[in-house]
Amino acid sequence: MIVIDGSRGEGGGQIFRSSLTLAMCLRKNIKIINIRAGRKKPGLLRQHLACLKAAEKICSAKVVGDQLGCQEVVFSPGNIRAGEYVFAVGSAGSTTLIFQTILSALAMADHESHITFKGGTHNGMAPSYDFIAQCFIPTVRAIGYQIESNIERYGFYPSGGGRWNAIIKPHRTSKALYLLERSKICDMEAVVTQAKIPEHIAERELKHIESKLNINKLKYNIVDSHGSGNILSLRLSMNDITEVFEQVGEIRVSAERVASKVVDKVREYLSSSAPVGEYLADQLIIPMLLNKGGSFRTFNKSLHLSTNIDIVNQIAGELVKLTHTCETQWQVSIHSI
Ligand code: ATP
Repeated sequence: MIVIDGSRGEGGGQIFRSSLTLAMCLRKNIKIINIRAGRKKPGLLRQHLACLKAAEKICSAKVVGDQLGCQEVVFSPGNIRAGEYVFAVGSAGSTTLIFQTILSALAMADHESHITFKGGTHNGMAPSYDFIAQCFIPTVRAIGYQIESNIERYGFYPSGGGRWNAIIKPHRTSKALYLLERSKICDMEAVVTQAKIPEHIAERELKHIESKLNINKLKYNIVDSHGSGNILSLRLSMNDITEVFEQVGEIRVSAERVASKVVDKVREYLSSSAPVGEYLADQLIIPMLLNKGGSFRTFNKSLHLSTNIDIVNQIAGELVKLTHTCETQWQVSIHSI
């Protein structure tokens, strides 16, 4: 039994989810203690419990501690089973984090899986559905993953109620991934997606971003959602990667301020020649480790990144190395398991 201390590093939900994924894929029994001890309200919230239930279901795991608020969970995985699944968070909690928890496990199954996710899709604290569809999925496809997705209804915070689908096919061959230098930017597009919000908010966000960045592709989409919501997304397409920078609109934060936050994120990214952005960096580690490894460069060492490396090295052996290559670049090198 491997024991993982959830209070290490970031001390949040990511340690818990990464442990579940590795336990399923490497068929190891794990005990996670001090779950989310670094957060104001420690233990399993709905979103984390939904990840646990999903993992439990796809591999018929034996679980101790699958209740809201639990700070200790024992997870003993069985065989991974492809199938048709519906996973609901039951709040605006992130459905994309459930997807990332089970992705690599279902990609190892014998057949394809069809999954419907219900709950939050855009909450600002986790990858949005758009980040997953435009940045994460295309990047892991380059490793070999075979995934299709589509969204039926947006689930903005705090109403939730989103719904989207994914098909995960098993892949038998995979490639090492190397993303060391940023390639030429081929396209830059700013997109506002919103529901039940006055249209002038979207127009002002786009006008502001247009005035700060040299960008001529701007659009906004009005979407179906139970509650109101707004998200500004800037997509930078390069030859081998698309990075997505986002900011969710908030009450009492002006449209211009929302757009400025996106501008700051893009400028920070462009100030380095590292191709991988802050969020994608911690999310690529497990898919790369479980396939052919490789290496990438990113511009900062976030706590999520160092924590995920720490957990992976504890469970899988010392296979991931983080090196400071220059002031604005960190290199992550991953040996395949
Ligand atoms: P908690 O902080 O309540 O424990 P959590 O379970 O959501 O929450 P974290 O440990 O903070 O967990 O992990 C959040 C994950 O979401 C990380 O993988 C991080 O890279 C990703 N993430 C956070 N914000 C964004 C964003 N704006 N875009 C893309 N990914 C994001």
